[in-house]
Order: sequence, then C-alpha cells, then structure tokens
Amino acid sequence: MSAASGPEKTVRHFDVLIQGAGIGGLTLAIALQQRGYKIQIVERASRLAEIGAGIWMAANPMQVFARLGIAEKVIEAGWAVRLLRLQDSRSGDIQTTNMSQIATKYGFETIALHRGVLQKLLFEQIDEDTVRFDCEIREFTQNGDQVYVKLSDGSSCTAALVVGADGFNSQVRRMAELGGEKRYSGSSSYRAIARGARVLPDDAKHEAYEIWAKGCRVGFSMINADDYYWYMTFDAPAGGVSSASEMRSHAETLFGTYFPQWVGLLQSTGAKDILRTDISDLKPLTQWSSGRIGLIGDAAHATTPNLGQGGAMAVEDALTLADTCVKIGLHEMTWQRFEQLRREKVDWTVATSWSIGKICHLHNPVLRALRNIALKVTPESVTQKQVQKIYSLDSNPD
Ligand SMILES: Cc1cc2nc3c(=O)[nH]c(=O)nc-3n(C[C@H](O)[C@H](O)[C@H](O)COP(=O)(O)OP(=O)(O)OC[C@H]3O[C@@H](n4cnc5c(N)ncnc54)[C@H](O)[C@@H]3O)c2cc1C
Repeated sequence: MSAASGPEKTVRHFDVLIQGAGIGGLTLAIALQQRGYKIQIVERASRLAEIGAGIWMAANPMQVFARLGIAEKVIEAGWAVRLLRLQDSRSGDIQTTNMSQIATKYGFETIALHRGVLQKLLFEQIDEDTVRFDCEIREFTQNGDQVYVKLSDGSSCTAALVVGADGFNSQVRRMAELGGEKRYSGSSSYRAIARGARVLPDDAKHEAYEIWAKGCRVGFSMINADDYYWYMTFDAPAGGVSSASEMRSHAETLFGTYFPQWVGLLQSTGAKDILRTDISDLKPLTQWSSGRIGLIGDAAHATTPNLGQGGAMAVEDALTLADTCVKIGLHEMTWQRFEQLRREKVDWTVATSWSIGKICHLHNPVLRALRNIALKVTPESVTQKQVQKIYSLDSNPD
C-alpha cells in the first residue's frame, strides 16, 4: 500500500484517529479532547443510533464518567438501580445485591438508561465536527511515526495512533490482522423498551430483576420514571432471523410459560420494537495492537452480557488509553502499556461472564436446584471479591 494520496490536496493530521462512535469511541474522544489532543472519529452510520434498547452502567463506568465530569449528567438521564434480584422462575430469590452498599464503597449505584440517550449525551460532550458520519477507513499504512489513512469519502489523513472502536465485527481488527475468533454462546436475545409499563409497585421502582428459567431468562429495570428496559435470552442456533411478529409471538410464549407475572413488559412494547442479537464473544486475542494501530471495547474483547460489563469495559478502556497517552506519549509503546494495564481484568471478565452464561440456562432440574443452592450459600467474602474485581478501577498508568 502506498501512502494515502486522495483527492484532497492537504492531508490533515490528527493525534488520534478513532473508528466507531459507539460508547467506547465517544468516551475515548471526550477523554482525549479534555487532555488537549486533536482527534477525529469516523463512523460508518449516517447518524447516531437511536436504537439499542437499554443499558446498565455499573459503578465502574460511572467512576470513569465522574473523572470525565459527566457522571451527574448520566445519573440525570437515567434511573438508579438500588437492588438487584436474581431469581429462579419457580423457587424465587437466589441472590439479592444491595447496590447502596456498592454505592457507599465505589461512589455510584448502577444507572439504567436508554442506549440512545447515553450515546447522545456522550456525543454532546465532544467538539462539533469531531465525528465524520458515513465514513470508514479504507486503507492504512504505518510509516515511521505516522499512520497514513485513506478514508471511504476519498479523503486522506495521518495520525499518530489509530483506534479501532468499531465493535464486535471490527474492520480495524481485520485490517490490522489481529485475529478475532467468535464464540457463539448457544443463546440469542431479545431486547426492548416497554413504554409506560406498569410492572413494579411504587416501593420497588428502583429494583432490577433477572429471572432464570429452563433454557431462558428475562431481566428488566426502569430506565426513567415511565419506561422499562427488558431483555430475554433463549437457547437457539446461531444466525437465526425472525420477523417482528415471530419475535413477539416467541417472546409471548416464553413470558406465558415462565414469567407470566411480568408479561406487562411485552404488552407495553411497540409491535416492531424488539431487537434480536445472538450472544457471542471473542476468544481472547493474542494482542490488541499492531504498531500504532490498536483496539478498544468490543473490537478488542467482546464479552457475553451476563455481567453487564461489555460497555463498562469499553468505557474503562477509554480512560486508561487516554491517561496512557498523557503518561508516555503517542507511540507504539502506548498500546503495549495500555494492554498491560487492561488485560487481566478484561480477560477475567470475559471468562467469568462466559461461565455464568453456561449455568443460567440449565435444563436439568436437579442441576438447577444444585446451582441455586450453591449460589445461595456462596460466602459473602467470595461475592465481595468478585464485586471488588468488577467495580474497582485499577488500571491507572501511574
Ligand atoms: C443483549 C446485550 C445486553 C448488553 N447489556 C449491557 C449492559 O447492561 N451494560 C454494559 O456495560 N454492556 C452491555 N452490553 C455490551 C455492550 O453493548 C457493548 O459491550 C458495547 O456496546 C461496546 O461498545 P463499543 O463502543 O466497543 O462498540 P459498539 O457499541 O458496537 O460501537 C461500535 C461503533 O462502531 C461503528 N462501526 C462499526 N463498524 C464500522 C466501520 N467499519 N467503520 C466505521 N464505524 C464502524 C458502529 O456503527 C458503532 O457506532 C450488552 C450487550 C448485549 C448484546
């Protein structure tokens, strides 16, 4: 590949070029601009996505948002989750987690909000014209202290670092030949917003539920004073596609069979508003970067959603990478240091989430009963260690 020489006469230079304006790419853009770097994001979509149902932002991404000065805005845009109830559809509570205790220790409860609202909020924090929509990287060449990049809109630029924040099917990961073996979990998912649903009583409006049944589960919480986010996972072959009416009728059957108490969620969901996503992750990559080109978020380490930590990891990556840039400059070494700081927690999270996915869909009733007992008698000290691992921010480059 030759150095980029598109139709534009002047080749623009950026400190950092980011591909992907998702949660990870936008948070990184905020952190880098706050630290004085000149950056550009290229985003394939023509505008910010408004779809995507809800998302739970746990205490760890909330601490990152606090460091970026936007935690209060996220709290205002969402709904605090104060109690998390894990239940079995037949026998009831398996575990309850009091988020207020977590808030006392880590500063924040989990905040549930609409994904589109979170993305808009992040987008509003960056300088105007930072994002080029309808645009993606076509080619890149590394040469000395620069990466020369040709973009799909015919323009070219150079950057000291290129970041693939372009999600599970990352094109940057493919172009930089960083591998990326996808693992299908055996389950697919539905996600939706139930508008104006009346599901939880007034004194339980800050509770979130996840309820496990044979081969499926449902989870939900409020995301604002009127609306709920709910998801459902179910065993299915990979790559299945369903029409809106098929998804609805399937969800209706699962609610009716296992979760009749919560069918109000489906009844308040618009006819075409259910999203289907297969649940997969990436087998850990050998490395997350090649020279000056590297990956963050799902592009580097997509995880199953069982710990609700995929977006959280992308947000943590963003702060760590920005701080590493400040600490050691914009070099190949920046990526190596970033990976050293992030690897252990990320690999643990991906592996733990994968294991949880395996136990929550059990079919055998004896194994399910044993699992529930095991979870009920798990010592508090073990749970606390896991909580500590997930919620504490320990990847400071200092
Ligand atoms: C069912 C489900 C529930 C989940 N729940 C939670 C939760 O509660 N909490 C949580 O923290 N995480 C959750 N996650 C995980 C979370 O959604 C992801 O980890 C998170 O979105 C990753 O952010 P990202 O920025 O790395 O990638 P993405 O959000 O995927 O963003 C990638 C961006 O790159 C753009 N892009 C892609 N390809 C290109 C290209 N070639 N050129 C230019 N742009 C491109 C895309 O359009 C997109 O804007 C859940 C995931 C699933 C499947």
